[in-house]
Amino acid sequence: MKAVVYEDVRTVTVGDVPDPRIEHPADAVVRVTASAICGSDLHFFNGKAPLSPGDTLGHEGVGVIEETGPEVHRFKRGDRVVLAFDVVCGACWFCKRGQTSLCEDFRNLGAGPFGGGLGGTQAEMVRIPNADINLLAIPEGMEDERALFVGDILTTGYYGAAIAGIGPEDTVAVVGAGPVGFFCVQSARLFGARQVLAIDLEPERLAIAEKVGAVPINARERNPQMAVSGLTEDRGADVAIEAVGSVPAFETAVEVVRRGGTVSVVGMFVTESLTIPVGVYWSRMLRLQFSGICPIHAWWDRAMAAVARGDIDPLPIISHRLPLAEAVAGYELFDSRRATKVVLQP
Ligand code: NAD
Ligand code: ZN
Ligand code: ZN
Repeated sequence: MKAVVYEDVRTVTVGDVPDPRIEHPADAVVRVTASAICGSDLHFFNGKAPLSPGDTLGHEGVGVIEETGPEVHRFKRGDRVVLAFDVVCGACWFCKRGQTSLCEDFRNLGAGPFGGGLGGTQAEMVRIPNADINLLAIPEGMEDERALFVGDILTTGYYGAAIAGIGPEDTVAVVGAGPVGFFCVQSARLFGARQVLAIDLEPERLAIAEKVGAVPINARERNPQMAVSGLTEDRGADVAIEAVGSVPAFETAVEVVRRGGTVSVVGMFVTESLTIPVGVYWSRMLRLQFSGICPIHAWWDRAMAAVARGDIDPLPIISHRLPLAEAVAGYELFDSRRATKVVLQP
């Protein structure tokens, strides 16, 4: 089959790899009908996270079940499904408590040996271990593109807003209006926020956030703290959601939140460190809520229901739709920020 294959830093190709097959009785093989390129794929593309030549990429995908092992009970051949980007066991202490991203047997699709050696979704087919847990049925009649992000960024944005404890009169400031921030904005509105502010440096990103109800704040043109203050009777936002994954963005989130407010950190941090003025945080009574990797499985039913009701609209974030064969161009468009989200169709 065809798949996006890693060759070297900043070089991927669409090449031929062996078809995936059932390797364990709880596996399913899914024929991919749409996948997407995610910011996390760029970490591999740019060599920040390791892959070996020949590894396949991608962890966002929807498709149709081609084959199931004898221990798969919830799905059968022909079912339409969305895949969870994180592949878990469903049975360990953490999984049973809904903290699936802390699973004892945590793996990632399309993330090379450190992800557990699973194939990627930017391919014609993909093998999904523990299929009963790691797949979700797509509601009847819902298009692929609406369901696709429920396996990753959409549910991550929903979760990042949910764990912030948003109240009905709240002003929520979302720092970073990339794909994750876009879904944080919509989810914050869904959780009843009175006002949602989006802070970013790129006017195109802010324009998309504005389309789904955010007040845009361009941090290149205005000091975010002053701007948020001006919209909140000088208090600051009740909730700030960091959706970038950088120290400057984290600092912005802390600056724009009010005393006694909550900072929900959804952006991914790996090796960064930061010296914090504990006394200032303490006296400001800040609540810091780190998301960790999103436990998709505990939240995707609710996120999918919100999409089905039309409360979350994923489509405005898609800027490019390309055949899988043109994935190399897709990587270039996304890496150079000319695309907000690239969908690939085998
Ligand atoms: P992205 O890079 O496409 O978007 C980030 C946005 O932040 C961009 O629009 C950029 O212009 C903006 N930005 C950069 N620095 C900024 C600053 N100082 N202030 C304000 N805006 C700034 O990324 P994405 O796909 O939207 O993902 C966002 C973060 O979420 C990443 O760190 C990603 O790894 C992480 N993520 C986490 C999970 C999880 O499970 N917790 C899942 C998916 C993605
Ligand atoms: Zn992703
Ligand atoms: Zn587990």
